[in-house]
Amino acid sequence: MIDVKDLSKSFGNLHVLNGINEHIYKGEKVVIIGPSGSGKSTFLRCLNLMEKPTSGSICVEGEYITDRKANVNLIRRKMGMVFQHFNLFPHLTIKKNITLAPVKLGLMTKEEADAEAMRLLERVGLADKADAYPPQLSGGQKQRIAIVRALAMKPDVMLFDEPTSALDPEMVGEVLDLMKQLADDGMTMVVVTHEMGFAREVASRVMFMSDGQIVEQGPPDEFFANPKNPRLKDFLSKVL
Ligand code: ADP
Ligand code: MG
Repeated sequence: MIDVKDLSKSFGNLHVLNGINEHIYKGEKVVIIGPSGSGKSTFLRCLNLMEKPTSGSICVEGEYITDRKANVNLIRRKMGMVFQHFNLFPHLTIKKNITLAPVKLGLMTKEEADAEAMRLLERVGLADKADAYPPQLSGGQKQRIAIVRALAMKPDVMLFDEPTSALDPEMVGEVLDLMKQLADDGMTMVVVTHEMGFAREVASRVMFMSDGQIVEQGPPDEFFANPKNPRLKDFLSKVL
């Protein structure tokens, strides 16, 4: 589904991604772990062109999105992104937050979008918040809304960048549970997280990123039981 070739990204003299080669297959749940500053967010942001790669190519469902002629909006539509800090519009209702993009892009009429928003809100148990505003919600509720908002675009892939890192501990579970549901539904997911329990339980593959490269990866059992790279061993000794 996603084919990354020799992907590099620099900010001035700072080389953040250093020649990443990777395939992500349909239905996979890839969890990316690694120390702060290793390039995890930049990698995710390159995948949906929120950052422009310095060199290399990214092919999504057969289309080279790094081509100059690529339709950036179409690509972003296929890839839902969920951030650490929710990024909901505080002055819009929950329903409006969810329906804004699909209506604006002409994917659905307002009525269709409203119906879809209510269907999704019911699914996550937040239908009663449709007319509330983001500041009235808890962090866990806001993040579940952010996930619903991304789902309303009917993406083929969901990218998550530390979706639970800004939450109070008691709210982490409700967000991870929703992500597990998505995984069970067969969604292709790329998740940057420090939640090792989630990685063990949900990931089909765990990747360790260090200094802008994926230095080790594997199925979670093998990955956690038998880390080989010294930097990964050191990292796991601190987080487990
Ligand atoms: P991670 O998500 O693993 O913590 P990031 O991808 O956010 O790492 O950042 C990797 C490195 O790139 C860091 O040194 C960070 O300061 C730098 N960086 C990220 N975004 C920018 C930017 N827009 N401009 C300059 N430097 C950046
Ligand atoms: Mg980050």
